[in-house]
Amino acid sequence: MTASLKPCALPDTPLAHASAGLDACVHCGFCLQACPTYVNLEDENDSPRGRLVLMRRLLDGAIALDDPDVGAHIDRCLGCRACETACPSGVPYGELLEATRATMLPVRSLPLVARIVLAVFARESFLRPALFAARVLRATQIPRALARILPARLAFPFAMLASSAPHLRNTQGLNARRRAIPLARASELATSVALLDGCVMDGLFGHVNAATARVLLVNGYDVIAAPHQKCCGALHAHAGDLESARALARANIAAFELSNVQYIAINSAGCGAMVKQYAHLLRDDPAWALRAEQITARARDISELLAAVGPTQGGALPLRVTHDPPCHQLHAQRVVKQPLAVLAAIPELTVIPLDEADQCCGSAGIYNLIEPDTSDAVLAPKLRCIAQTHATYVASGNPGCMMQLGAGLLRSGSTTRVVHPIELLDASYAMKQRNT
Ligand code: SF4
Ligand code: SF4
Repeated sequence: MTASLKPCALPDTPLAHASAGLDACVHCGFCLQACPTYVNLEDENDSPRGRLVLMRRLLDGAIALDDPDVGAHIDRCLGCRACETACPSGVPYGELLEATRATMLPVRSLPLVARIVLAVFARESFLRPALFAARVLRATQIPRALARILPARLAFPFAMLASSAPHLRNTQGLNARRRAIPLARASELATSVALLDGCVMDGLFGHVNAATARVLLVNGYDVIAAPHQKCCGALHAHAGDLESARALARANIAAFELSNVQYIAINSAGCGAMVKQYAHLLRDDPAWALRAEQITARARDISELLAAVGPTQGGALPLRVTHDPPCHQLHAQRVVKQPLAVLAAIPELTVIPLDEADQCCGSAGIYNLIEPDTSDAVLAPKLRCIAQTHATYVASGNPGCMMQLGAGLLRSGSTTRVVHPIELLDASYAMKQRNT
């Protein structure tokens, strides 16, 4: 497909700057069956190809920027980027989606819940108390009870919170007290890494962060503190609030520069995809472009770091597990085999293949809060596929997916629980330690 010859109706906007990506689409439709919204809603306008046409028509001025129907189709996109993996022409769909949302943002307001969440995640003074309150509420077990008795729409956020609690500790009698989180000084020999704390990971999945630090240490990495980190900015970028995303990116770049590590270890796929995007996000900022490039070059999914050294074998963990790769690991980062290498380091772990593992679970940041019907429709087949495995645990390396799957399983009465792959490896190391 050749570039549009019509004059640009939206000059000097993020969408106009990204328009070369639109030109790459040849309208072949190979992406359609990969798209969860198209598969579930069966509307071409809710497919990648259809949305790309809408973006082109916005640029050509054939559709007004504040057209509510176009806004709805763009909002309904999960941003899972499965269409990028399927596309033979290399259309940078994720970049185009964010550019479109950023271009639309000044002419229409986000839903109230989205505005509240983005405001909270952009400010430490709001975020820390909110996550502390969530932890206290979770400890009361009230969310678990409400998740079972409230109507579905109200129950789901409580089910998400309840499902963020540690599960392996209760099942295996293994706990996180056996070693403090190592914040060792880098030696001359060891490879130094700083852990991206993440806001939800730090606030609700501290047990996974602790496990990640222990696992890195077992595998020969020195874990160095990188204080003063903030939210990675992924939620803001996905919503089109690129200025907030850039401000958060600058703060994190400065924090990681101070730690002076070789790698940044990231155990949240959504955050990992975002940090790997910092170079692109700040490419036009002369003061930050090079600094962003250097931080992006150091960012690694935790499974990449472990697979690179061939993860140390743990002790036997005779569990049935299935792996659901997060879209931002599989499609956005193209990290495919490494999480399986992590699980392969666990003797006697039975890893059952998951049908349609490359399909989104419907979490997509705060999508499940603002598009609950479509999110439910996307989650339902995922839960059916998980049930077919008869697995005791689902392993997934992203907090949003862990809570979405966990909430769906909890609400459906399933006894299957969701854990991070690193928790399994950590438990396996604990087993080895116990038996030696
Ligand atoms: S697969 Fe790629 S080129 Fe084909 S329609 Fe989809 S986005 Fe366009
Ligand atoms: S990002 Fe996901 S939901 Fe959006 S068009 Fe691509 S495949 Fe469909």
